[in-house]
Amino acid sequence: MTDSFSLTPEAAEPQLRVARNSLELLRTVPELAQRYTGVDRLRTLGDLAALPPMMKDDLNTALAHLEPKAEVGATWLFQSGGSTGAPKVGYAPTGFYMAGVYAQWRPLDRDDVFVNAWGAGRMWGAHFLVAALADLSGCQVLSVGSVTRDEYADWLAFFATRRVTAIGGTPSVLRLWFASARAAGVKLPALRKVLWLGEAWQPQLDEDMAAVAPQARRWGMFGSTETWVVGTNTPDCPEDTFHTLPEQLVHVDPDGLLDFTTLNPEMLNPVLRYRTGDAGELVSCPCGRPGRSMRVLGRRDSVVQVRGLGLHVDEIIGRVEREPGVTRAQFVLTEQGGRATGVDLLLLTGGPAPDVERIRADLLSATFTLSTAFQHDPESFRVRAVGALISNDRTGKTANLVVREDS
Ligand SMILES: [Zn+2]
Repeated sequence: MTDSFSLTPEAAEPQLRVARNSLELLRTVPELAQRYTGVDRLRTLGDLAALPPMMKDDLNTALAHLEPKAEVGATWLFQSGGSTGAPKVGYAPTGFYMAGVYAQWRPLDRDDVFVNAWGAGRMWGAHFLVAALADLSGCQVLSVGSVTRDEYADWLAFFATRRVTAIGGTPSVLRLWFASARAAGVKLPALRKVLWLGEAWQPQLDEDMAAVAPQARRWGMFGSTETWVVGTNTPDCPEDTFHTLPEQLVHVDPDGLLDFTTLNPEMLNPVLRYRTGDAGELVSCPCGRPGRSMRVLGRRDSVVQVRGLGLHVDEIIGRVEREPGVTRAQFVLTEQGGRATGVDLLLLTGGPAPDVERIRADLLSATFTLSTAFQHDPESFRVRAVGALISNDRTGKTANLVVREDS
């Protein structure tokens, strides 16, 4: 049973007082109190595994009631969860718990010139979190944030002049930087480190990086605005495998879903068996670093129901993104009263124009679910080249799947 935790009982159980504190706080939340009745002890990993898991909405409910405050300095509110409507919030103190990350993971050093390309403002967390890591690292920082499509070329030329050695952003944003550099023929020979957080790594980035910055290697963080950074990896680790921090307790439930419990006494969010929706497993990392590491197998919700058939969105996207000329793809599902009326596969293009009709025909013949779902109206499955994909203005992310209601 304890094999389903990232830490051994010996390492984790003495720190469970933090989890007991979270439990006491959650019991004071009127909407959640009842879920924890009958829980009389939390001493062992077995006790923890018996607690009900928390979902995103549970945590938002708890925070709305608790309104935690940092012991020292400001309390920052960041966007947390919910893809529609008003932002839900997660809390963090100045510093964003990055001292614990820096103790385990040092991708940057004093000699680095680091471009922070995570969007700043709009209550987004990653820009500030990585700024705190840069602060601890003592490097030079270019706080660029998000730029518009026609600004890439000028900024890239500036990066080359400044001999930028490191850049960081969400993989979606990094894709735009590297694809723009590639299209413009810009080389960044001094660039050696690419920091990423916020989405899964995108294999196309490896190809673009090899062309633009052959020395560059990826350095990943896994986390969310609720849990903050849970784990990190290095260029020697597979891109989906992360070494978890000692202050983060990761659990894999019998269904293969990950949940997270904070062991950090300074944590403002009462994260207690919190589920991000990601599936995963605990493995030993091929890089050779001892201990259990967490392999993230992607979000369970990447399988979407289309006319009663489960369609693997990430698989289709991955397949299409290997086509020449396709920089990035996005799956747009249109529904009317819960029924799929159509699917548009949007292709962001760069370089040679992709053969849209051939891609469409190949997909239909290779994807049983697509051909079956659209057997009677194949024209409702469309593939289109576009100048821009659909981004979420609130979160700054470009999801593989967008669901639209047909009005
Ligand atoms: Zn590793």
